[in-house]
Amino acid sequence: MTRAFDVEAIRAEFPALQQRVNDKELVYLDNAATTHKPVVVLDAMEHFYRVDNSNVHRGVHTLSQRATEAFEHARKTMARFVNARDVAECIFTRGTTEAINLVASSLGSKVLGPGDRIVLSGMEHHSNIVPWQLVAERTGATIDVLELDATGAIASGQIEEKIGARTKIVSVVHTSNALGTMNPIHEIVARAHAVGALVLVDGAQAAGHGGVNVQALGCDFFTISGHKMFGPTGIGMLWGRLELLRDMPPWQGGGDMIKTVTFAKSTWAEPPARFEAGTPAIAEAIGMAAAAEWLMAFDPSDIARHEAGLLAYGTELLQAVSGLRLIGTAPKKRAILGFVIDGIHPHDLGMLLDHDGVAVRVGHHCTQPVMAHFGVTATTRASLALYSTKHELDRLATAIDKARSILL
Ligand code: PMP
Repeated sequence: MTRAFDVEAIRAEFPALQQRVNDKELVYLDNAATTHKPVVVLDAMEHFYRVDNSNVHRGVHTLSQRATEAFEHARKTMARFVNARDVAECIFTRGTTEAINLVASSLGSKVLGPGDRIVLSGMEHHSNIVPWQLVAERTGATIDVLELDATGAIASGQIEEKIGARTKIVSVVHTSNALGTMNPIHEIVARAHAVGALVLVDGAQAAGHGGVNVQALGCDFFTISGHKMFGPTGIGMLWGRLELLRDMPPWQGGGDMIKTVTFAKSTWAEPPARFEAGTPAIAEAIGMAAAAEWLMAFDPSDIARHEAGLLAYGTELLQAVSGLRLIGTAPKKRAILGFVIDGIHPHDLGMLLDHDGVAVRVGHHCTQPVMAHFGVTATTRASLALYSTKHELDRLATAIDKARSILL
């Protein structure tokens, strides 16, 4: 049954949102970095450690069987969460960074050779740039970049121009963590598939807003970070099309990923086990699945409406601040508000906002090419979640005004 969208009721489920910081009610606007965790997630993880704690797979005793069941149930929940065709398409990783490294290392070394091209966009997080540079160096492939326009969207014509006959892999972010821009994934996938390239979508900033559907997106790989969707740190997921995963070599060796081992030769387990060497983050997988279950109770369009309302409200408030320039004004964007203010260093602003209990992120947001594109070294970023409110944006605006009067 769909849960009614009541932001105050939602906030009440997040213990960390209930605190005061520097003697002010906390205003937490750093959700693109990490979200807070609802009680159901904390309880699920605590229950695991208090009751079922054991290692997974191959154990014959009751606790190990329970742990295995809970862990594999978490995988099934995640498969539902992203609308995977098959649960074996869901590989637990430490997060988006590890998921991209897995694909770059395993698939990249298999399909890339000298002269082949990898296409990224100009708004990628460093974790969707550096793994490709590493594999490009090893294989002789080169990287092409979909350039951005002045709003922070992929510039017109770039998709057709850059994705071509030599393109083997396209790896693009769904929603930019620095700009909020939502990319035209359908168009990118259509073009990439037309030239025989595979598409990875970095979904780190997408999954926490509900309604992930990998089949509808049509991509080949999709990555998730648990901690950005109300789950714990240290866990995430790679979703990949099963026929591709079956063909991909392991990228890390160890326990659990093998079929047989002799000193002469080892053989590999089928996916997902092939890509999950070693003891996994069991409690974290259970916690992430609890978060996914919690998110799935909402109608994604309620979340989208709430966040779009906040984005419009916040944009208007910030545009009224004299000397403030928004960084990232693409027509299709999520509730991420990056900005610079004339004469004020983002780090000074961030510290003064913190004095007022307002948590924002300042810096390059692991997107130095985005900063270069806009001619800045850092921005201040307020990033919202489904539990954010207009009141919090008012508090942000008031705190900015106060900081301006101190700093200017
Ligand atoms: N991609 C994007 C768009 C992100 O926002 C982040 C986290 N800031 C990452 C990748 C990396 O995610 P993680 O640190 O959870 O691996």
